[in-house]
Amino acid sequence: MQTVDAVAFAADLIRCPSVTPAEGGALDTLQRQLEALGFVCTRLPFEEPGTEPVDNLYARLGAEQPNFVFAGHTDVVPVGDSAAWGRDPFAGEIADGVLHGRGAADMKGAIAAFVAAVSDYLSAHGRPAGSISLLITGDEEGPAVNGTKKMLEALAARGERFDACITGEPTNPNALGEMVKIGRRGSLNGTLTAKGTQGHTGYPHLADNAAHRMVNMLHALTGWEIDRGSEHFQASTLAVSTIDIGNPATNVIPAEAKAVFNIRFNDLHSSAKLETEIRALLDAAAGGPDFYNLDVVCSGESFLTPPGPLSSLLSDACEAVIGRRPELSTTGGTSDSRFIKDYCPVVDFGLVGQTMHKVDERVEVSDVNALAGIYRAVLEGYFSRSSGPA
Ligand SMILES: [Zn+2]
Repeated sequence: MQTVDAVAFAADLIRCPSVTPAEGGALDTLQRQLEALGFVCTRLPFEEPGTEPVDNLYARLGAEQPNFVFAGHTDVVPVGDSAAWGRDPFAGEIADGVLHGRGAADMKGAIAAFVAAVSDYLSAHGRPAGSISLLITGDEEGPAVNGTKKMLEALAARGERFDACITGEPTNPNALGEMVKIGRRGSLNGTLTAKGTQGHTGYPHLADNAAHRMVNMLHALTGWEIDRGSEHFQASTLAVSTIDIGNPATNVIPAEAKAVFNIRFNDLHSSAKLETEIRALLDAAAGGPDFYNLDVVCSGESFLTPPGPLSSLLSDACEAVIGRRPELSTTGGTSDSRFIKDYCPVVDFGLVGQTMHKVDERVEVSDVNALAGIYRAVLEGYFSRSSGPA
């Protein structure tokens, strides 16, 4: 069996223009390579009204438990200002030890490292006592409604079980091996409308100013100390992202004002508990629940995989391969691990994220190879135990 070159395969994946939610040939390319390694591949396309159809891929090698999962996405964000790129974002060029292109860091480089790690493991040890799976979605960078969440539900319904997972998001700020994400903050968006009664600015006693009510409500929200952080998380934060009244008249008191805010919350809260607290604050600031409307959407609850066997295994692998022991962190944005955490312990670890979503996205060739080595060492550690980490 020919082993897979992580960098060359990452370049192949970059050449597939899989701008979310387009498949772009990326899942096909990945499936061909995995089938050559003996994986059984299942495509899981999903679609629902009002969303774009999305294709996804689940690949499993072996039928026994434990089932070790590598999770990720082949979709990429748009290139943005294409004229600003120094190189073709979909050429997968390798020059001076650097792999260039959209998705190099986020996260085709890591997916190629998954495949190279498995290929190296198999040629060194043969098949493991258990299974290795890849859970790859084409809908992570978009709305993420037809991706990992639905895949996990469909796979669980057909009896698939997962025992441990690494999601290959770019977690390292500056250098490979700096940071493993063992949890993520939750994210909640609130759309707030203040209600009032329109009137003449010269006769404010005859009106009820929605702008003033909004100011009071936002003052209550922005002055709220949600918490002071927890053992593994920084303090939860609230940010107002827009305030809109759009009143063109200087002599009219507005009847309505809108604002949107986002809360990133730690493991001390659920979105439901937060919504109750927000409504209590707003009731007091607005003069009662009849004077405002609030719509809350939670795009993901917070989660934590407490430091344990999986994070130790990964930290040991990092130290063995590149001599650096990563910090276990819960900072930054969210990932599909927020769905996987309901099925098995999950941590995020991938390449250096400095250029993700930017023009001239790129990664060091040596990092892609080292990451493949780390993932391989994780597999070796995992399957050398009689039963893998719980
Ligand atoms: Zn990503």
